[in-house]
Amino acid sequence: MSETLSTPVLIIGSGPAGYTAAVYASRAMLKPILVQGIQPGGQLTITTEVENWPGDVTVQGPDLMVRMEAHARDVGTQIETDMITALDLSQRPFRATGDSGTVYEADSVILATGAQARWMGLPSEETFKGFGVSACATCDGFFYRGQEVVVIGGGNTAVEEALFLTNFASKVTLVHRRDSLRAEKILQDRLFKNPKVSILWDHAVEEVTGTSDPLGVEGLRVRHVTTGEITEIPCKGVFVAIGHAPASELVKDQVETHLGGYVVTRPGSTATSVPGVFAAGDIADPVYRQAITSAGMGCMAALDAERFLAENDG
Ligand code: FAD
Ligand code: NAP
Repeated sequence: MSETLSTPVLIIGSGPAGYTAAVYASRAMLKPILVQGIQPGGQLTITTEVENWPGDVTVQGPDLMVRMEAHARDVGTQIETDMITALDLSQRPFRATGDSGTVYEADSVILATGAQARWMGLPSEETFKGFGVSACATCDGFFYRGQEVVVIGGGNTAVEEALFLTNFASKVTLVHRRDSLRAEKILQDRLFKNPKVSILWDHAVEEVTGTSDPLGVEGLRVRHVTTGEITEIPCKGVFVAIGHAPASELVKDQVETHLGGYVVTRPGSTATSVPGVFAAGDIADPVYRQAITSAGMGCMAALDAERFLAENDG
């Protein structure tokens, strides 16, 4: 039989935004329930060193998230291993349904579902996903020991993935569609100095090529964006690192979104277009998308929810 759990504050997501909201809401005696989703700890669990979390010169992403979870539990957050598959925001109490069958009734909701890796959208990418095409070097880099790999993208993730892959691969080619990277300068410096890395500027991906039996990648066909010249890069692995899209499917058509799905929040607040529903972290942030800004927004969302509940139910 499915059970129904009720809470003043339902937090959906267990990244820095969700856990920080949980710490603040718990300390405000709001007895929050936090639903973790399929990636407990969020995006930082698929990286290695985090070097910009204040107070830690360097910390492993997964370790940081284990600490955040422990903090949230310690102050009394009820943490559920579940995935919200449906959310009804049409009336209060709001109702969320979990994959487990559990129904969550909540007087307020904090959306902290973050973002998910973006894919190029090529049929050949789809064919080889999991068979040479990956969006997570930390997860899959080990399989490419002594082999040649390609990373696609020019942001922080692409550069970090490329550097991480030099620990395993014999050669890492970074393919970028422009002639400059948007990654932080300190990361760019490390990339340019690494003898295992070569960079192919101004190239767009045409096709991932490979064998069908067994299914596996053998190369990447790229096109120069101005001359149209085609180049074949032999490789066994292709790591797609072209950014992340907000995970806002659950609330599509229920709260206002913009810029390709980011939840709109009122300036200076985490309030969404639905009273009692707040959004924090990458789901609502097309600009900064950092662990620290997500945590900051998680704090804001808990304080906003507390004020909302005091004004509406107090
Ligand atoms: P996320 O971390 O994206 O977490 C989202 C959470 O929502 C997950 O727990 C997921 O399971 C849950 N969820 C999603 N859908 C549902 C659902 N339907 N039901 C329940 N739960 C759901 N930032 C830095 O500041 N420094 C770094 O060094 C850094 N390195 C990075 C390296 C990589 C490889 C990547 C991908 C990102 C990196 N970032 C870094 C960015 C940082 O990870 C994000 O800005 C941050 O994690 C966003 O936090 P968030 O809480 O908004 O969501
Ligand atoms: P991003 O900053 O949005 O960069 C995406 C990159 O992919 C850009 O270089 C973009 O090219 C390229 N791109 C986008 N679509 C493409 C396509 N269809 N084909 C080919 N290339 C494409 O994404 P991100 O690197 O994943 O970073 C996301 C956020 O997380 C950022 O805010 C970042 O700062 C943060 N983050 C931080 C750290 C850190 O602090 N160390 C580490 C990782 C991530 P253009 O440059 O031409 O647009």
